[in-house]
Amino acid sequence: MREPKVHVGILSETKIEFIFPDTYRVNEEEVSGKQLVLFDNGKILWKNNRYDELLFESLREETDSFELLDVTIGINFHWERKENQRFHGALKFIVEDEKITGINVIHVEDYLTSVISSEMSATASLELLKAHAVISRSWLLYQLKVESGKWKVAMQHNNAANSQLNKDSQLSTFNFQLIKWYDREDHMHFDVCADDHCQRYQGITRASTEMVEQAIQATRGQVLTSENKICDARFSKCCGGAFEEFQYCWEDVKHPYLVKQRDSKKATFLPDLRIHSEAEKWIRTSPDAFCNTKEKRMLSQVLNNYDQETTDFYRWKVEYTQEELAKLIFQRSGIDYGQVIDLIPIERGTSARISKLKIIGTKKTLIIGKELEIRRTLSPSHLYSSAFVVDKTEVKNGIPGKFILTGAGWGHGVGLCQIGAAVMGEQGYAYDEILLHYYIGAAIEKLY
Ligand SMILES: [Zn+2]
Ligand SMILES: [Zn+2]
Repeated sequence: MREPKVHVGILSETKIEFIFPDTYRVNEEEVSGKQLVLFDNGKILWKNNRYDELLFESLREETDSFELLDVTIGINFHWERKENQRFHGALKFIVEDEKITGINVIHVEDYLTSVISSEMSATASLELLKAHAVISRSWLLYQLKVESGKWKVAMQHNNAANSQLNKDSQLSTFNFQLIKWYDREDHMHFDVCADDHCQRYQGITRASTEMVEQAIQATRGQVLTSENKICDARFSKCCGGAFEEFQYCWEDVKHPYLVKQRDSKKATFLPDLRIHSEAEKWIRTSPDAFCNTKEKRMLSQVLNNYDQETTDFYRWKVEYTQEELAKLIFQRSGIDYGQVIDLIPIERGTSARISKLKIIGTKKTLIIGKELEIRRTLSPSHLYSSAFVVDKTEVKNGIPGKFILTGAGWGHGVGLCQIGAAVMGEQGYAYDEILLHYYIGAAIEKLY
């Protein structure tokens, strides 16, 4: 197959300003310089004409670029701000929800170069970057639903789920259970957005690093596959020593390459962490694992500048007073449990992450899940992970005064563990060894 192109949704506004420093072509016409489109009565108003859609194409794809003004980045984050951004490729405008959406149409490999340059730290090793290139490409082509010869993406599960229920979350409320999971919602009119929802993309606003370009070229067209399908290559910051399995975090489907294993090649024995006593021993100790590191040099390869201060995530602790916890759970869930009597793990996955947690309150008792719902409910932002054990202290009349959560890992723990992969790269493992350690039994194949 040939290298596909990706449609990236960059911004959605009622007024968009942009600049063509070079000549671009639209409807047989050549344009350059500063331009403006306005949303007007369901249409795109440009130079006194109304359009349903506009496509500006560059004359020289390799070198030409355009600039979008006032693009909001970091939406809903504390560092949200506007900046001008530059892009290679074509610029497309469509009408969506009473606004104009600006879309960048770009070759897959160029998109990946930009995404990995802005996502990964400049200190990352080449093998780590190559591993990430293959993961990002797999994720992207999975989104593009690439089909070519024997290549088919397994979308049937998603489609079935979408038609039944909500697009991004699944919910079942029976027997006093509130079990939800959140998966990425698909975009209707483009493939991926430029935000963290998909992968952060800033075009060529910042120069791509030479190492990233090298990593992309070295792995051009390569994706992870299993059973003749592109893998759903999930990854998270730190598994906590053992891999979680897909079905404990999302839909109840078992992927053969997203299965339990110790994140180590020295110590391969993995206790059954679904058993509470085993999980307790695991979390309260610090077993050998690739991601068992506090070395800033390692962490800085994976964590971007915004969260580099943190070093305690292989094992971590969070403390709440009764008042703090009761208030927090009420604010986060909208459910009034009264005072919190206990937090009891009902079900754990293969990494000791809790997938069902019973919250016992003086007013209400409910089982919640899966891992992300638990992490959202028990923290003002997100708890590092749902792999934790609970200690209650200062108990008076059956009501604990204090809750101490001792936990392991950061994120869902399914698939590649970014910190572990960084350490493997430093220890001299090649990118394919890293990938096949985390995606068990998968293959790396070149699509183009
Ligand atoms: Zn998105
Ligand atoms: Zn790990």
